[in-house]
Amino acid sequence: MYKLTLSLFLLPLIIFAQEKLPDVTQKQAGKYDANKFSQMYDLLATPNMFRTASGAPGPAYYQQQADYKIDVELDDKRAKLSGYETITYYNNSPDSLEYLWIQLDQNEASKNSQSPLAESQKMEQVLTVDKFANQYLKKGLERGFNIEQVKDVKGNPLSYTINQTMMRINLATPMKPGEKISFSIKWWYNINNYRQEGGRSGYELFEKEGNRLYVIAQFYPRMAVYNDVEGWQNMQFWGNGEFTLPFGNFDVNITVPSDHIMEATGELMNRSEVFTPAQVQRYELAQKTFDKPVVVVTQAEAEASEKGFSDKKKTWKFSAKNVRDFAIATSRKFILDAMAVQLSSKTTMAISIYPKEANPLWGETSTRTVAHTLKSYSAHTFDYPYPKAVSVSAEDQGMEYPMICWNFGRPDENGVTSEQIKNGMMGVVIHEVGHNFFPMIVNSDERQWTWMDEGLNSFMEYMAEQELGTNFPSRRGPAKNIVPYMSGDQNFLEPIMTNSESLIDFGSNAYAKPATGLNILRETIMGRELFDYAFKVYANRWKFKHPTPEDFFRTMEDASAVDLDWFFRGWFYSTDYVDIGIKEVKQYYVSETPSQDLKETKVRKRRFGLEKGPFVYLISDQNPDLKQKKQSQMEGLKLLSDYVSENLSADEKATLKNPKYFYEVAFNKPGGMPMPIIVAITFDDGTIEDFKFPAQIWRKNNDTALRVFGTEKQIKKIQIDPKLETADIDVSNNSWPKEEVKSRFD
Ligand SMILES: [Zn+2]
Repeated sequence: MYKLTLSLFLLPLIIFAQEKLPDVTQKQAGKYDANKFSQMYDLLATPNMFRTASGAPGPAYYQQQADYKIDVELDDKRAKLSGYETITYYNNSPDSLEYLWIQLDQNEASKNSQSPLAESQKMEQVLTVDKFANQYLKKGLERGFNIEQVKDVKGNPLSYTINQTMMRINLATPMKPGEKISFSIKWWYNINNYRQEGGRSGYELFEKEGNRLYVIAQFYPRMAVYNDVEGWQNMQFWGNGEFTLPFGNFDVNITVPSDHIMEATGELMNRSEVFTPAQVQRYELAQKTFDKPVVVVTQAEAEASEKGFSDKKKTWKFSAKNVRDFAIATSRKFILDAMAVQLSSKTTMAISIYPKEANPLWGETSTRTVAHTLKSYSAHTFDYPYPKAVSVSAEDQGMEYPMICWNFGRPDENGVTSEQIKNGMMGVVIHEVGHNFFPMIVNSDERQWTWMDEGLNSFMEYMAEQELGTNFPSRRGPAKNIVPYMSGDQNFLEPIMTNSESLIDFGSNAYAKPATGLNILRETIMGRELFDYAFKVYANRWKFKHPTPEDFFRTMEDASAVDLDWFFRGWFYSTDYVDIGIKEVKQYYVSETPSQDLKETKVRKRRFGLEKGPFVYLISDQNPDLKQKKQSQMEGLKLLSDYVSENLSADEKATLKNPKYFYEVAFNKPGGMPMPIIVAITFDDGTIEDFKFPAQIWRKNNDTALRVFGTEKQIKKIQIDPKLETADIDVSNNSWPKEEVKSRFD
């Protein structure tokens, strides 16, 4: 955002200074605008040694690495978290770094946060008492990081500056290419009640019993990304644009009350110290059980722990390799079940932790859904590389971290689950587990582009839901579901290629529209074979790396030989919508004698001169000369029967078509977005024939396209996009004759 604002700000100044700039830029912009099939040179960054024109990492591609050793302790009574970390940062870039940027995401909720002040605020006239009290009565809570010390390896204090959610560590001497540096940070913060205060992490309070269920994330100062695209990605965390993080290895020791059950990113290194022997045995059974979850920590064990409020402590030790983040879920309320999952080249574990309030739904559904997700996503991208994926029951949450995610959806107080709750819960589990692939492994810049992870992941979620084979009611993916959004007021629409913090309708713009676009590419434009291969190439090229939008757009073309610039230009860079219609249908009849208007028509030879004839004439049914000749006369045309008998072999004669009816169909396109024309023609005997004209039919005329059909049977009806696969916003012009109008041929 800093960089973007700066360049936009500088531009008018330069124009001012030069007074008379030639109008070239204006004209070029106009020209690009005029053709929706122009290649995207005006929109994409120039390929370079870091990122190639084919969309792959270039020969000079690099990425930074940040390793963490962290000790944290939870004070359950005060809901407070304290931590001490040592970060080792590797400068793999070709640049010298004068300072390091660290992300302090908890500060987004601190008293001096700019986030709430940067939102326009309207008087809400009906509020819950809770919300009124929070907004008008209560003093703001103490939130945000308290940084106690920042020190180098020798224990000397390092100079640092905190700007909102970013902390700059000032280096005495620049960090050269190839160097690594270690430093430590000590901090603490008060954990928020996320159901009251909001946030992607915090605790859920079970008031009657006084227990908390913690889902802990963004809990430690985290390295910002430095790369060839943004330099430091140090745009502030305003609340919407999520996280951009380098890969690294984590060793994390987490101290909690001894009656807690925990899951976190990484492999548990001391299972025998934190589980009972029986639980260890059950876990070992789960590692060999592929057909159903094994309960490792039982509901009875969890219910016993709930009442204990132990004063003793226990330390859980986790180790994670090549992850971009770390998150923790801990509570004395947790039940844990797990099962093994067979992928094509390896096995992994699907795990769920949930309180008794989530049963029976979670015991029956969560871990199985995790397993299904890992299989489906792996088949479309690469085998899930991590040792486990955990689904945590956290009400009102849907949030992802490496190997672990928070998911909403529980039965009512009587243990009854509606279909809607169950489907919502399965959808969010698939979605959040799926985020392991995008953006946890294919590590795009979430702070810049929400669609690169949410859009791709919503598309993958749609495929995984449909692969359940249960007619799952997917919200995002089917083309017709995006129509209400894309046909909305243009004043409130922005292109998908809009920064995460500037999106008006986050869900529709960054989740549903890109997901639908990919679905249309797969089903309608490229076909599954070409799409699936190219998508897999993208995933494999960029797994454990940092892709940009260009890398995605370029790879999809590079691996398929399908020119998609028109699609990406329209669907991702504009707010154009799809509306294709049938404007007019004319019928023609063949004749040996020209109608009055055709008598003087000259037919050019291919190179020089004019054709002499004899000619076959196609006469419009609206031509007055046609009079009674309404029957097709082709069979009676001497010209044609002579031609056939004199010029064609017996084999050719046997395969001749016998068209009797000739139609010219005029398609029009009130919508700006090009799209293939999908046509279903119904004949008078009820049979249907399908045609598909590629989007390129609009290259030379963006408004109208004509096609001629010579058919053996009379056409009764023409329908465009009969299966609603193109997100056409107005289907009232999609059929001929218009549904309510009687056919003039009847
Ligand atoms: Zn998501």
